[in-house]
Amino acid sequence: MKDIFCKIIDGDIPSTRVYEDDDVLAILDISQTTRGHTLVMPKKHYESLLDCPKETLTKVMLIAQRIGQAEVSILGAKGVNILANCGEAAGQTVMHFHVHVIPRYIGGEGGFRLEMASQDTSKMNLPVLAKEIGDAMK
Ligand code: 5GP
Repeated sequence: MKDIFCKIIDGDIPSTRVYEDDDVLAILDISQTTRGHTLVMPKKHYESLLDCPKETLTKVMLIAQRIGQAEVSILGAKGVNILANCGEAAGQTVMHFHVHVIPRYIGGEGGFRLEMASQDTSKMNLPVLAKEIGDAMK
């Protein structure tokens, strides 16, 4: 069964399109967490950023960058959060890779909060942890 973004890409259900080319589609997020909140996605289905091939990932990220730049220049955004939730545990609800471009305004207008709390790292071995991750990249 098609996911909701595949249906949008195929024109089965409506969306408010910001940008489109052969490989990439950008639409306004239905929630408008802040004014201009946009989703950028590959037209080909990949479940998340983690399984997206690098050529497609590059195209998606370059469009996300241009949308962020446009939002700063014409919407009065003072910053932009560009992020991808990968997997249910990370808050991904639509299992079709997409990047959120969320313009940020002075005074925190809108409903977006990003909170990164610190853990007590005294019982963690950070060099070993770093090596584990680094080794797995090889
Ligand atoms: P996720 O939680 O997977 O990172 O984000 C999914 C996003 O898709 C949410 O911000 C949600 O508001 C948006 N969304 C879900 N369904 C639709 C839809 O039918 N149309 C649009 N434009 N956005 C949607």
